Amino acid sequence: MLQPYACDPLKSRGRRHPEAPAPARDTFQRDRDRIVHCTAFRRLVYKTQVFLNHEGDLFRTRLTHSLEVAQLGRSVARTLWLNEDLVEAIALAHDLGHTPFGHAGQEALNTCLRNVDPGHAGFEHNLQSLRVVDELEQRYPTFNGLNLSFETREGVLKHCSRRHAERLTASEPGGVAQRFLDHSRPSLEAQLCNLADEIAYHAHDIDDGIRSSLVTIEQLDEVALFALCRRNAQADFPGLDGRRLVFETIRRMLAQQVGDVVAATSELIAVHRPADVDAVRRMPVLVVFSEGMHAQSNELKAFLRSNLYRHPRVVDMTERAKHVVRDLFAAYCDEPEQMPAEYAELRKLYRSVADYIAGMTDRFALREYERITGRQVFA
Ligand code: MG
Repeated sequence: MLQPYACDPLKSRGRRHPEAPAPARDTFQRDRDRIVHCTAFRRLVYKTQVFLNHEGDLFRTRLTHSLEVAQLGRSVARTLWLNEDLVEAIALAHDLGHTPFGHAGQEALNTCLRNVDPGHAGFEHNLQSLRVVDELEQRYPTFNGLNLSFETREGVLKHCSRRHAERLTASEPGGVAQRFLDHSRPSLEAQLCNLADEIAYHAHDIDDGIRSSLVTIEQLDEVALFALCRRNAQADFPGLDGRRLVFETIRRMLAQQVGDVVAATSELIAVHRPADVDAVRRMPVLVVFSEGMHAQSNELKAFLRSNLYRHPRVVDMTERAKHVVRDLFAAYCDEPEQMPAEYAELRKLYRSVADYIAGMTDRFALREYERITGRQVFA
């Protein structure tokens, strides 16, 4: 039961290496299963979202974040009659290319690559997610990567600079990077994952921020959406406080945002009436917040940026993490034999070192740092 503008597995643009269809699963279900079974997916459990993995057992990791994005995405997809399996596949794969230590790791790796080679295209996690599913996973007899469908890969490549898009399109003409050159849009399922990603991390970063005592409920009351949901929760349940108040407030924030996306998107779809997925690709972005919710979401984003992501404790952690990545990068470039043989390929040494480091979990990177330098980062 899909709308004509949803991605239909029978009309997929296919895989790069042709394969016979699976007997009991459609194309996107098979993609989802391949992602769940891959190595990079299992590593997400020990990769940082905001808090380093060793800080506590209750904070989100990339794995739980990806599951929350999949859950939110699927509920919206179901309501809008979009393809739930495709949404799930994209959501589960969207962060596979993240380095250890979250954005700090990515920034450090990008700087390292550009320092050793000013002409280098650098490191970018969306591109790396595509690289993981296209190249780096090695588990099938006749091809590298997971050989996912065009539609899943299109969703995984969420952002891409013109320079990267030109490079990707040279090796895959009319492929998943083409839209960054001709400014078209991806499928509605891919658009939905972008928004679900944002809704999910805003919500869980509030939860983790309060849990870690880096932000308080009183501070969060500056944010209109939080304050409204907090007040409504306490009006319905007088005396509600502590963790239950936080959960109830966040639950209401999620419900409001999901309801808003469904309403605003349905309205746009009714106006533009896309006949099929290719029509969607030629239209403006259709999976959106209403203007009012867009402003509220931006307010929340700005709050989290200044109060959580730039909190001195988070910044301190971030600086240490960058240090680890920089030292590891230098060490492997000096002595490639410190890496497993399949990475120690000298022809593309910098890229291999970046791939090796990007694939690490937080704790493996810390152990490698200790092994190579004899120093401890968090003594
Ligand atoms: Mg994400």
